Amino acid sequence: MSDDPLACLTLDLENDWYFDDPEYDHLTFEYIDDYIEEMQRLDVPVTFFVVGKTIERYPEVIDKLDTELDSEFHLHSYQHDTSKSYDFRTEIRKGKEAFASHFGSEPTGYRAPQGNIAPAEFAILEDEGFDFDSSIFPSFRPGVYSNLDKPLAPYCPEGTDELVEVPIAATPGTRILVCQSYLKLLGRPYLTYLKYAPLPDPLVFNTHLQDFYETDSHDRLSQPKQSIMKRNLDGSLELFADAVERLRSRGYEFGTMTDVIEAHSPSCVELVYDSTEVGSRESPDPVSQQHDHLSTTNDD
Ligand SMILES: [Zn+2]
Repeated sequence: MSDDPLACLTLDLENDWYFDDPEYDHLTFEYIDDYIEEMQRLDVPVTFFVVGKTIERYPEVIDKLDTELDSEFHLHSYQHDTSKSYDFRTEIRKGKEAFASHFGSEPTGYRAPQGNIAPAEFAILEDEGFDFDSSIFPSFRPGVYSNLDKPLAPYCPEGTDELVEVPIAATPGTRILVCQSYLKLLGRPYLTYLKYAPLPDPLVFNTHLQDFYETDSHDRLSQPKQSIMKRNLDGSLELFADAVERLRSRGYEFGTMTDVIEAHSPSCVELVYDSTEVGSRESPDPVSQQHDHLSTTNDD
């Protein structure tokens, strides 16, 4: 690999908003050909974190993504249960089974539903044979995660010997997430922000099909989530294409999660976490910071 900073596009492949009723079953899959065409046009490899049940229900869609895109696959739980009331190891084993029976090999990477992973679960992942996890949003989301004390670069979580955590991208200092849902929510001023903001390396950019395509599932979301998620949805793919262009203009090369692990895998012994980066923050509320920042930028 070159010394250029590395970006990795990831997509969490799951039922839109986790609605499991038959009439809301993976409605975004209707747009899969369009999605493939867009990614081919942008010439970016995609790393998919796929739900076990999705593999079982739609093996032909998985095959299509596998063969038509520069892609790789990892696990995104078995059933995308966000309640955390299940037994984690059982859920992981069922997911591994669904994955292995389709791909012929076990997954090496994992991402938790909503990035909600408990500290003790890292050791279970390592024990179950995973090389890496990419669940941590090193930011703050009320009621889901509070990760302002977590590193922005790959690290070994406490309780593991070799498992690498590859956090999802957030900007150093301000901890604003760099992902499609933020890009969509904040629109073009955010692209301007990406032009000047300090950015992490590697940069793991997360997306979902429901960030790009509107289906009847959006109408079932409660307010205000529905308004937030529908914002800029029409122009979402265009915003994404511009963000890819912006990252390329800042020197980023696009690779898969395997490329990220090879380029950045830390030695757990050598890991040094710079706590001064977190300590420099003035407000625990990233949303208010985000508005402070964006109010100083213009559309471009
Ligand atoms: Zn998910």
